[in-house]
Amino acid sequence: MDIELHQLNDHLYILRERLDLLEPRFLTKYVNLYLVLGTHTAALIDTGHGMSGLRRKIMDLIEDRELLVFNTHNHFDHVAGNHEFRNVHIHKLDYKGIAFPLDLSFLEDAGTEYSKEFEVLGYKMPVCDEVFPLIGGEVYDLGGVEIEIVHTPGHTGGSICIATTKGELFTGDTIHYGAVYLPDPSIVGFYKETLRELAEAYPSYRIYPGHEEFEIGIEVVWDLLEALDSLEKSETEYNEYLDANLYRIGRFTLVSPT
Ligand SMILES: [Zn+2]
Ligand SMILES: [Zn+2]
Repeated sequence: MDIELHQLNDHLYILRERLDLLEPRFLTKYVNLYLVLGTHTAALIDTGHGMSGLRRKIMDLIEDRELLVFNTHNHFDHVAGNHEFRNVHIHKLDYKGIAFPLDLSFLEDAGTEYSKEFEVLGYKMPVCDEVFPLIGGEVYDLGGVEIEIVHTPGHTGGSICIATTKGELFTGDTIHYGAVYLPDPSIVGFYKETLRELAEAYPSYRIYPGHEEFEIGIEVVWDLLEALDSLEKSETEYNEYLDANLYRIGRFTLVSPT
């Protein structure tokens, strides 16, 4: 399964996997992974679905640098490639999601050419055996650029964003355009609080999300907050596959579990 690679600037690469070709019913085209290169250490942000031969590509790019791997949260499209790596970091509240082989049996009836590639593994992805828990606030010096872990609960309890000293903010599924998978309705208020805090703390950062368009402005956060505020008075349609209500508002499809 192919992965697209683009260099964004002297220290940053994006690697993109096609989620729609794997399972179109997730309503998402791209999963975005990022590689930040310091002078002596590199940080890989998310590991994708695990079938694109990611490790080989990363090793070619980082040369002799040390590699640190971070998961923005524990959903399969961001962590299933962990088994190819060591030195994986995830927030402690999301750790249990990657502690056991990942069950991808939901791909058995996807019916796509790519989903069949998982058959040889029995639709189970092996775990990474070297995982370090995060709590938020950790800073890593990569050489010439530092990254900081920001705990941003909402999408999952252990979701993180990663800020660099070069004005970049990697947001995983906490913020992106397209299909946004909301937490349980009782947690949405808490998620909105996280979004407001982020927009206020990083007003001039460039946003690099886990899905769809990248290198976007902080206005995506205000757009998302506005969409969330109008959710209750918007029209909805029930999606049986996702067992969720869909709200199409502006550039978002909000997916709310029932
Ligand atoms: Zn997610
Ligand atoms: Zn995702």
